[in-house]
Amino acid sequence: MKTKKPKAEDTFILKDDFVQVISKSGNEYHVTTENCNCMGYGFKGTCRHFKMAEEKGMLEQLKAKSVNLDFRNSPSVKKLRFDAVKQYLIKNSIAIKDGLIEFLEPKVCFEMKPAEFLTLAESWKKNS
Ligand SMILES: [Zn+2]
Repeated sequence: MKTKKPKAEDTFILKDDFVQVISKSGNEYHVTTENCNCMGYGFKGTCRHFKMAEEKGMLEQLKAKSVNLDFRNSPSVKKLRFDAVKQYLIKNSIAIKDGLIEFLEPKVCFEMKPAEFLTLAESWKKNS
């Protein structure tokens, strides 16, 4: 068993993409899911800020946040978008040729207007 002396507490605050650590000596550090910007981490590849943030479950929370931000590229979302594009093409009587959905899928987004989508679909026909 490790013998750890309890010292004065560091303060951990969960921010959008990092954990803000205000050390007991008043210094401020930023811990991400990858590392900490303190000197100790630079030397040893780990530090008490990083370990504590991990123990507190804050790094897991950060990871969950970044997963939410990256949802557009998750395989299940890509599949849903792929199917939605396909249905939309069928609805608009556009012939589904090989490669058309693959071309459109990464380009479509929620903000896209139907006319923009159809123009994009047209542009693929011209190029092929
Ligand atoms: Zn640190």
